[in-house]
Amino acid sequence: MSQKQTLSFQAEVAQLLHLVTHSLYSNKEIFLRELISNASDACDKLRFEALNNTGLYEDAPNLEVRVDFDKQARTLTIADNGIGLSQQEAIDHLGTIAKSGTREFMNRLSGDQKADAQLIGQFGVGFYSGFIVADRIVVESRRAGLKPEEGVRWTSTGAGDFEVESITRAERGTSVTLHLREDAADYLSTWKLKSIIGKYSDHISLPILMRKEEWKEGEDNKGGEMVLTAEWETVNQASALWSRPRKDITAEQYQEFYKQVSHDQEPPLAWSHNRVEGSTEYIQLLYIPSHAPFDLWNREKAAGVKLYVKRVFIMDEAEALLPAYLRFVKGVIDSSDLPLNVSRELLQESRDVKAIREGSTKRVLGMLEEMAKAEKAEDASQEDKGKYAKFYAEFGAVLKEGLGEDFANRDRLAGLLRFASTSSDTASVALADYKARMKEGQEAIYYITADTLAAAKNSPQLEVFRKKGIEVLLMTDRVDEWALNYLHEFDGTPLQSVARGAVDLGKLQDEAEKKAAEEAAETFKPVLQKLKETLKDKAQDVRVTTRLVDSPACLVVTDSGMSMQLARLLKQSGQKVPEVKPVLEVNASHTLVRKLEASEHFDDLAHILFDQALLAEGGMPEDPAAYVRRVNALLA
Ligand code: ADP
Repeated sequence: MSQKQTLSFQAEVAQLLHLVTHSLYSNKEIFLRELISNASDACDKLRFEALNNTGLYEDAPNLEVRVDFDKQARTLTIADNGIGLSQQEAIDHLGTIAKSGTREFMNRLSGDQKADAQLIGQFGVGFYSGFIVADRIVVESRRAGLKPEEGVRWTSTGAGDFEVESITRAERGTSVTLHLREDAADYLSTWKLKSIIGKYSDHISLPILMRKEEWKEGEDNKGGEMVLTAEWETVNQASALWSRPRKDITAEQYQEFYKQVSHDQEPPLAWSHNRVEGSTEYIQLLYIPSHAPFDLWNREKAAGVKLYVKRVFIMDEAEALLPAYLRFVKGVIDSSDLPLNVSRELLQESRDVKAIREGSTKRVLGMLEEMAKAEKAEDASQEDKGKYAKFYAEFGAVLKEGLGEDFANRDRLAGLLRFASTSSDTASVALADYKARMKEGQEAIYYITADTLAAAKNSPQLEVFRKKGIEVLLMTDRVDEWALNYLHEFDGTPLQSVARGAVDLGKLQDEAEKKAAEEAAETFKPVLQKLKETLKDKAQDVRVTTRLVDSPACLVVTDSGMSMQLARLLKQSGQKVPEVKPVLEVNASHTLVRKLEASEHFDDLAHILFDQALLAEGGMPEDPAAYVRRVNALLA
């Protein structure tokens, strides 16, 4: 590239820039955090690449960030001697948004500035946040390892396009110069910059340098001012936060660090910071966020923990460090044992990683158990009491994936589950609570799965349970059906779906009830036979049930069959499902069912009975038009 080129921003960038400048003005100062964070990332990358190529350090082995300003020119410069950008990288990285999920993120913007500002904060605007305070940004850079003539200058006013040209630049790394807007001139102050750095960037493990100031008397002793000298000083702590002892770190510092690792502006619900010693040594600093990111369900992007080896950054999103069902956890793991050149593939196989993963999983489950315990603790603050419910509302469904994924911790996970039930509309019933409330003679934990809470609550299958005052858990998360395949019992008590198999309330049913049911089944035999024949294409069996009180009929699956709910979910997601033929159960004491035998519309009634049972549980008759025709014929 010899001449200046003018290039357009990718459409998304233009959109993002507009948002940045219009909705982030209430918290302008974050631009400094973002730019320092980029500078620090660039140094991490250099250190990592230099592991295999020490020549990249050239003659400047001490990595650092320098923040400097020029009052007259109204410019503020953030410079690093990190990895730098090649010309093509400047075009690619500063002209597009390469990050996955960006399009989805853009789609979620509502146009409501306040909500959007929060979302942007969560996403992290990075480099483009410079335009909150600058009307022009000039980036000069040279990538480590390239010749001085292969430097690049990138300039933009943050409107639709940017310019790039090649320059000669002796120093490796990047300097970002912000031409501040008139109303942002207050950032041209050592005091102000230092205080922002102290607030957001103290824990950056790299030294951040600023020029020292000194007092200069005015002419003839009239007035005077602080002026910058040529001497530089370090203005942050410059040691990795997690490597300091717990007692030296304030809650604010932990929270600030969380913002940096997670790009989430809301404070975390909890964190845990430990130095683990023993056969595998590492430091873990793990956070539980207070709300789900918009891409929580993307299992591909499945990790929030950064891996360091002896303070050297190795990789983001190190999925081997925690199981996928804990992908919402953010933080840092710093190992003392892994080799610096460890790859993702190697991580999967390493015994040290396995130990780290087990230890960290236990730590996270422990944090969650602590939170859950506070719910009921008398001495807990109101805030602590509400934390677990808050966590569960955001991440409960993800946690359930663990039942199928992490057999070793299944019992602990089961203890952390919460469900709605026939006595609670919110997901607040723990299996232990349920057990404590079980009726005398009740031998199972009963549950029902459905698409919605209303469908679950009104399901005919619940009628007999309601009549007998037996609590039933109502499960409406998509993942429930799958997860429950892996949870057969809790603390010695089996879990039993009320929509599966024949009802056997065991000791909960008295002798008279059992006898009445048997008699009804006997006298009803001829009708059942006829129903079976009529519905042979739809139902694999028809039988009399005691589970219904007010409804004439319901559908159940056999003990071994796939549930109707699961079959529907699979079908919706486009998968081939083996045909599930349910069992039709009828309520022999219901008027409609009693009328069947003598009815001249037996066929129509039989089909209506079946289709209604299907509708009642959220299904759809195979031939809705035929259903309507039959009902109308009877109505007429
Ligand atoms: P990100 O969240 O990826 O950092 P940014 O918009 O802040 O997003 O930056 C985009 C990309 O530009 C970065 O991923 C990085 O590749 C590059 N970049 C930004 N600042 C620097 C820098 N100081 N040195 C080297 N590369 C940088």
